[in-house]
Amino acid sequence: MYEILKDIDFIIFDLDGVFYREDEKIEGTREIINFLDSQKIEYCFFTNNSNYKTSRYKDKLLYGGVDVSENRIFTTTKLIEHYLFENFADNIYVLGSMQLQESLYSKYKKCETNPEYIIIGMENSITLKDISNTINLIGENTKIIAANPDKLIPLKGRFELECGVINSIIAQFTNKEIKIIGKPNTYGYETILKKFNKQSHKTMMIGDTYETDILGAKNSKINPAWIKTGNELPNYVVKKDFMIFDSLIDLKEKLEKTKGF
Ligand SMILES: [Mg+2]
Repeated sequence: MYEILKDIDFIIFDLDGVFYREDEKIEGTREIINFLDSQKIEYCFFTNNSNYKTSRYKDKLLYGGVDVSENRIFTTTKLIEHYLFENFADNIYVLGSMQLQESLYSKYKKCETNPEYIIIGMENSITLKDISNTINLIGENTKIIAANPDKLIPLKGRFELECGVINSIIAQFTNKEIKIIGKPNTYGYETILKKFNKQSHKTMMIGDTYETDILGAKNSKINPAWIKTGNELPNYVVKKDFMIFDSLIDLKEKLEKTKGF
């Protein structure tokens, strides 16, 4: 299964659980990036989160010893902006973080009656009243898009609710489809491949979450790889038809070996 590594010329990394764990450093970050740079293997980062600007992820990577351009970091906020641009959106309503609101309202008109697009993200301060208000804004022509389908973010010994919980509530009150922009849907992956002019069969996705990273890669015909430094695999996954790496150092060593260094 690992022979495919010799053809890989592009790697999409998930962030949390791969390059850091919450605020904790993970070993091998600098080594893998130096190696990829030296071998001219391109890479980028893709997170389902819509709460923070790409500059925050750049800072988190820098804290872990890796200096990467923000052009290589894809958040669902960035992808939603791209989706609205591609679809010639005009007016929108955003239920989500201040960052998501600021980014989108700086480009599109805020509309509170029959908006063309309702955009759902996550923010811990969202109230049931905010969700009710949003449901009441859905008009005949409104399309609904959501940052991601994740219901929980696992944290150390606890969890926080994510966007998927809000999607489920809203889905109960409308028969409209909620278009998911993040993983495991293909939109983000396809957009990234186009942007870097890369082919899916020569691309690998490395993540720690089966339901988003691995399934998203499979849906997009990208080679999936699970890394052991973050979330556990769900119990129902018996057929391990994806690559597995112990760590970023293990990834570097396997790449070196198959590429013949
Ligand atoms: Mg992760």
